[in-house]
Amino acid sequence: MPDGVATVPGGSPHEELDLGDGFSGFRCERRTEPLDLPVLVVNRFFQPVQITTARRAFLLLFGGAALAVDEVGDLHDFSAWRSLPVREKDDGLPVVGGSLRVPRVLHLRRYDRMRRPTIRLTRKNVMLRDTHQCQYCARRPPVRDLNIDHVLPRSRGGEDTWENLVTACRTCNLRKGWRTPDEASMRLIRQPLPPRWSATMQILIGLPHSFDEWSPFLRAG
Ligand SMILES: [Zn+2]
Repeated sequence: MPDGVATVPGGSPHEELDLGDGFSGFRCERRTEPLDLPVLVVNRFFQPVQITTARRAFLLLFGGAALAVDEVGDLHDFSAWRSLPVREKDDGLPVVGGSLRVPRVLHLRRYDRMRRPTIRLTRKNVMLRDTHQCQYCARRPPVRDLNIDHVLPRSRGGEDTWENLVTACRTCNLRKGWRTPDEASMRLIRQPLPPRWSATMQILIGLPHSFDEWSPFLRAG
């Protein structure tokens, strides 16, 4: 079986469907290979569960584990999907005898569980959450002048969590030093929290990139 490809779950409706590692880091380049395009995966209840690649989406569609959702919300199995035209706004995958429309949304037939993607706590992702803005002075210096600040310093037991890490410019970071914001008389412009669902998705797919076909599902999230 190819790496990371889901098997069609047998009996149990709660069986976990392996979607592989999911989509990690779509770069918004002009020419993306059709098979590398991001596809939004929704569960039986049309709740978004993951972003995957068109490559996995086609395998799930072809294997019958999933249906493709078109722009009006109709569901198609592989043979029905194959007969849909590739319009100008679509991405097409060249196949023998023509072109196959790359689905934007994939509906898993047996995946009941509500599972939300999580985003890894990394320096880069903290900065993305904070939109590269210093959380003390609100400035947006070049990224190279940004640091990650422990709100409660590590030396005082501050942990590496979404709630305790913020983006700070070099100046604010130095000024704060090993103190708490209170001790340094510095105020956070917003309370640091784990990224919300929609922000998580945006970070996962790359901020500027999204498809119109996703918006009904992301709004629902
Ligand atoms: Zn600052």
